[in-house]
Amino acid sequence: MYYPEPISKLVDSFTKLPGIGPKTAVRLAFFVLNMEEDDVLDFAKNLANAKRELTHCSVCGHITDTDPCRICDDRERDGSIICVVQDPKDVIAMEKMKDYQGKYHVLHGAISPMDGIGPEDINVPPLIERLKDEEVKELILATNPNVEGEATAMYISRLVKPSGIRISRIAHGLPVGGDLEYADEVTLSKALEGRRDL
Ligand SMILES: [Zn+2]
Repeated sequence: MYYPEPISKLVDSFTKLPGIGPKTAVRLAFFVLNMEEDDVLDFAKNLANAKRELTHCSVCGHITDTDPCRICDDRERDGSIICVVQDPKDVIAMEKMKDYQGKYHVLHGAISPMDGIGPEDINVPPLIERLKDEEVKELILATNPNVEGEATAMYISRLVKPSGIRISRIAHGLPVGGDLEYADEVTLSKALEGRRDL
């Protein structure tokens, strides 16, 4: 091979990151070689700590370093509304908007029959359990506006509807096929405000 082994191993590690092709991986690896040793050690430590110290909240599924997470634990927030999202990054996008005072449920994915992903493979069963235990008045389905996100919203809606809980879907204004996490705060705020009942 062209590179000494430690470099090719580092290049391999960078290639595992999303959006990093072989050329960028080589560039990053050489960049690391020129960094201050302390910065490199910090970087490695932060990577390991983030992985080790973060877990999923046993209530809502959001990433957290406390269990339950700070959002679930916050008594100021309205526990009668749960916003269902696909990814922890969506919770962060919603929180940045600052308009939402309810709670969340993170599915960690979406139903996708094409990929063999059913409701049991994502965080749906714990949501159904939560609805039995908690006094929930409204479920806002904020899954992504693409085929999988819509299928997931429809599935949950059908499952929960008989219980009489109000079910709403965030408005499209969000780019079709786009992820919630990439929506800007104004768009997201409008999408939430314009939610329609299912
Ligand atoms: Zn939580």
